[in-house]
Amino acid sequence: MITRNKELVNYLSDIPASSEDVVNTIREVFPKITKPLIDRCKRSDLYGIELRKEAADALRAKYGGKKKDRHKLTKILKCRVTDDVYDAYKTYAASFHCDVQDLFVRRITDVLKKNFPQPKEAAALQERYCERHGLPFFVPRDGMCFHCHQPAIDSFYDAATRHITSCPHCRKSFCD
Ligand SMILES: [Zn+2]
Repeated sequence: MITRNKELVNYLSDIPASSEDVVNTIREVFPKITKPLIDRCKRSDLYGIELRKEAADALRAKYGGKKKDRHKLTKILKCRVTDDVYDAYKTYAASFHCDVQDLFVRRITDVLKKNFPQPKEAAALQERYCERHGLPFFVPRDGMCFHCHQPAIDSFYDAATRHITSCPHCRKSFCD
């Protein structure tokens, strides 16, 4: 299996340095380094050579060490489980070819869609959604439709993922 040394590849593509800059920086500690050798370090699985710590330190000293988060989803949820549940989950994931990311997102979305926040809580959640996305906030602050007096927001998911402009029950607009 060909797996590239992703950490190095990502690091080099994140920093504001040309490949010549990279070679010159590493040359300060390893005078004979060349670009083809660095390229081989990016494929250490194939070439069996890796960039030494001193070289990485030289790059970090010059260009900073923090890799930026390349994923467009920046929030991470983690949970701890027992060894037994972990073993069962790994077996399940392998049998059904699903990954944790996909499974969690589906399950969490499901839970958020099927459960109802307190009306006031829902209104506050919607208000934060509007703030994050620069949208006007229309839902009544007590979270109740002023027309039919039912909860103005259907679920945690709706409250935090879409702009609510009318009542889900009577359809009366909140923005008139
Ligand atoms: Zn209503």
